[in-house]
Formats: sequence, structure tokens, C-alpha cells
Amino acid sequence: MNVDLHSHTTASDGALSPMDLLLRAKQQGVELMAITDHDTVAGYRSVRDQWQDASMQLISGVELSCLWHRRLIHVVGLNINIDHPSLQAGLATQQQARLDRAVLIGEKLAKQGFAGGYRFAAELAGDSQIGRPHFAKFLVDCGHVSSESEAFKRYLGAGKIGDVKSSWPEMATVIQWITDSGGVAVLAHPLHYKMTATKLRGLVDDFKTQGGSALEVISGKQTKDRTQYLAQLAEQFGLMASTGSDFHRPDMPWNELGQAAILPKHCQPLWPLLSRESGVSSTPQ
Ligand code: AMP
Ligand code: MN
Ligand code: MN
Ligand code: MN
Repeated sequence: MNVDLHSHTTASDGALSPMDLLLRAKQQGVELMAITDHDTVAGYRSVRDQWQDASMQLISGVELSCLWHRRLIHVVGLNINIDHPSLQAGLATQQQARLDRAVLIGEKLAKQGFAGGYRFAAELAGDSQIGRPHFAKFLVDCGHVSSESEAFKRYLGAGKIGDVKSSWPEMATVIQWITDSGGVAVLAHPLHYKMTATKLRGLVDDFKTQGGSALEVISGKQTKDRTQYLAQLAEQFGLMASTGSDFHRPDMPWNELGQAAILPKHCQPLWPLLSRESGVSSTPQ
């Protein structure tokens, strides 16, 4: 089954509208698809009733920012009831945290001599969730850096001045919102956190203990070594395996929709729990 359980739309930092994303996913052969915008379900909400194509099942999703031992972690929630009060309250605090953080990022950049960042980023984001990619565009557009990746490397990435993370909740809290709303929690892109193997095992151990269900064993295009490593990690901790492109826009071929590698045989895939063929409830929520 062609499965893609991690993607972004214009509701957060993606380039495609929710419907354009779905059409592209279908074109790429995806059969089970989740929209997982940063800290919002608005993109999914806007298309869930319109998407009637039987060849590609759409499930609900979200990617929540949180902290584990003061490190920024992303947890994907799938098959969530988007109207559940606990999740809705959680999303409201996340969205406020994004706004508060954006003001602080703007202040930090202004101190560095780059004034006007908040206004630029807020205008660019419009109704979408504001994030560091909007500030990266500001730094590029104003000629302070030559690319968005340089903006992250110098000003916005981990440990840099624009890396303001104080307002995110603990990982256990966001897992709770997901499970309260009937969803399953997936630890997103475990190798993005640049942890030592020991630290990563600690993270995965806590994730499992706190109610997490799966590890994103495949995140976009990655080497076989990495897939094997993550597959083993999932197996060791009794977690299921998820797959997603983390698609943001068409000009990033390493995150193209529906291009994920096949999971190693010893993995327990997450999707039988999610797909309508399983008989488990997965009606649009
Ligand atoms: P935020 O959700 O506001 O904390 O921003 C994180 C997002 O920034 C990620 O989901 C990526 O889409 C993007 N991002 C992170 N690191 C980089 C990077 N080095 N270059 C470009 N975009 C990045
Ligand atoms: Mn993103
Ligand atoms: Mn992420
Ligand atoms: Mn993502």
C-alpha cells in the first residue's frame, strides 16, 4: 500500500492548498494519506468532506511541537477526532504559543539589526500558523542571507538566536491530547533531532511510556542504513512503524509525496490500525 502519513499545506508552512496537496498525492499514487500541518487541523478540516475519491483514503492528522528535556520534538497525531475538546484546547494553546514565539523571534532578529521581521512574517503567514520558515523568507527577501537554509543555519536553527522554544508544552502533554481524542501518536523524524544514540533511546523509551504508538521509520528519502536503524529501534521498544514524506512543496524532491521506501519486513506497520479496510473506525472525524 502506498502510504503517506506526514505532509503540510498552506494552513502551516506548506506551499500547496489542501486540495492541491491531495490531488498531487493521488497523482503520485498515494492510497492512504494524512495532512499533518504544524499545530492546526484547519487544512484537513477544509477538505475532509470534499475528498470523496475511493482510491485514496484521507485520514485526520496534525504535527505538534513539544519539548523533551528542553529539546524541541515533533509528534504526529493520526486518526484524531478534530472536534474533541481536549485536542481543541491543546491546539488553541499551541497557536497562541506560535504567536508569542513569533513576537520574540521578531525582537531577537531586530536586536541583530534585522527590523520588521515580525510584521513581514505575520503578513506572509496570514491565517496560517506562523513559523520559522516565514522568518526565513523575511531574511532572504531582505537580502540578509542568500537562502532559507542559510537563514536556519545562521539565525533560526537549533541553538541560534531565533530558536525560541520556551513556550512549547512537554511531550507527555501533547501525546495525551492525541490519545484523548482517539488518535495514535507517532514520533516524527527521529533522526532530525541530532541526538546521540543513547539520548535517542531515552526519548523513544519515554515516548512509549507516555502513550506513543509508533516511530516514523521512514521520513522522506533516506538511506537504507537509517531505515534499518529506525526499524530496529521501533522493534526494540515495541512501537509500530509509520511512513511519511514530510512534504512541504514541490521543489523539494527528497520529500515528494508517495515516494517512501518499503518498510523492512520485521516492522509492524501502523496503517492497518488506520485504514478503512481494517474495519477499525476511521470515518472522517
Ligand atoms: P517551526 O515549526 O516554526 O518551529 O519551524 C520548523 C519548520 O521549519 C520545519 O517543519 C521545517 O519545515 C522548517 N525547517 C527546519 N529546519 C530547516 C532548515 N534547515 N532549512 C529549511 N527549513 C527548515
Ligand atoms: Mn515544516
Ligand atoms: Mn517536523
Ligand atoms: Mn512536518
